[in-house]
Amino acid sequence: MMFSRALKTTASEALFERAQAALPGGVSSPVRAFKHVGGTPLFMRSGAGAHVEDEDGNRFLDFCMSWGPLVLGHAHPAIVRAVSETVARGSTFGTPTAGEVELAELVTSLYPAAERVRFVSSGTEAVMSAVRVARGATGRDLIVKFDGCYHGHADYLLVKAGSGLATAGTPDSAGVPAAIAGTTAVLPLADLAALRAFMRERGREVAAVLIEGVPANSGLLVQEPAFVAALREECTRAGALLVLDEVITGFRLGAGGAAARYGVRPDLVTFGKVIGGGLPVGAYGGRADLMAHVAPLGPVYQAGTLSGNPVAMAAGKAALETLRAGGWALLDDRARALEAALAPVCAAAPGGPATLVREGSIFWIVFQERAPRAWGEVDAAAAKRRFPRFHRALLERGVYFPPSAFEVFFASTALSGDDIRRAARAIAEALEASAP
Ligand SMILES: *Cc1c(COP(=O)(O)O)cnc(C)c1O
Repeated sequence: MMFSRALKTTASEALFERAQAALPGGVSSPVRAFKHVGGTPLFMRSGAGAHVEDEDGNRFLDFCMSWGPLVLGHAHPAIVRAVSETVARGSTFGTPTAGEVELAELVTSLYPAAERVRFVSSGTEAVMSAVRVARGATGRDLIVKFDGCYHGHADYLLVKAGSGLATAGTPDSAGVPAAIAGTTAVLPLADLAALRAFMRERGREVAAVLIEGVPANSGLLVQEPAFVAALREECTRAGALLVLDEVITGFRLGAGGAAARYGVRPDLVTFGKVIGGGLPVGAYGGRADLMAHVAPLGPVYQAGTLSGNPVAMAAGKAALETLRAGGWALLDDRARALEAALAPVCAAAPGGPATLVREGSIFWIVFQERAPRAWGEVDAAAAKRRFPRFHRALLERGVYFPPSAFEVFFASTALSGDDIRRAARAIAEALEASAP
């Protein structure tokens, strides 16, 4: 057995207690509250490389990585330096700055489909704005998303599939008017026939079809390249725009993201997470003629007080430059090493199947025989039964996983060979400890 300990959580508990009186549920974003795994959320106080330390002084090997942005690990020296130097000269001006030009040039040169790019402050904002451009440019209202994909929390994207054969979305959150949810249709992933049938019938009403670069918000639902190609084809035929949501995959799956991996050219693309190097940055971009609809060039309004914030731009630029200068190759190497260590551990798991799914540096462990490609293929009950004990056992062995069975985990360039061996041992033991 690895060193397994009862976690000391006194400081986190005290903070969580205080937090409840000031923040709804004690958190600034719901999944952080540990509701899916039980126990007290851990309040982190520092991070370096692949490791984090909480307020009780517990140290963890971190696979949450702030849900994706930290592709280079915590407190990477290039980012710390860029941020420190920039903030010392003033944190925001509300004017154009050189930094946003530099980051925009990097983005447009690395990612060919992004001929023009507009910076915002989150992935949600990026997707909202791209949808507005799509609607403005096509003069159509309907958008299409896929069941299991997450695109941020705009009203018309907090929508789930309707019952039966109905494709009209129904609200997936209180506060979303049914009339607004009705402007979104929801289709199953990995289902060519459903996609074709819908687009042949209603494609001419569709402003945009949205899909994640690799669907990674309901587990990791890797799509066949043929499905993505068909999606491109159906959009073109119907005059609908293809919006590739690369908020997770952009600058993580190499320079060209999922678009390059699948050989697909989106009309519009959204970025977040990695593009800000750990600071709040989102961006949307695409064909120059479409981006010409955005104010001040065109009639689609979109603005932001802190958009293109110079400190955040500097962090993003440092991250992308580090990735370009060997970072992506190193990330690929680390991800392959992690897969080589974890796949046999999962395959040998006692107490029911565990399957390791990987796309680039994005990973998921699912408690069923085969990797699902659609939400309907996920054995959610099995995952919910086993994951809380699995997660707790990992914490007790110094490994921090995202606190939900349906969240992916991330490799970073900061993982050492020793980290990977430790992770494999901890995961093997946690699988055993969580076996029914
Ligand atoms: C995280 C995420 C978003 C939302 O980004 P925020 O910065 O959390 O608003 C949108 N799309 C995808 C694919 C995401 O993973």
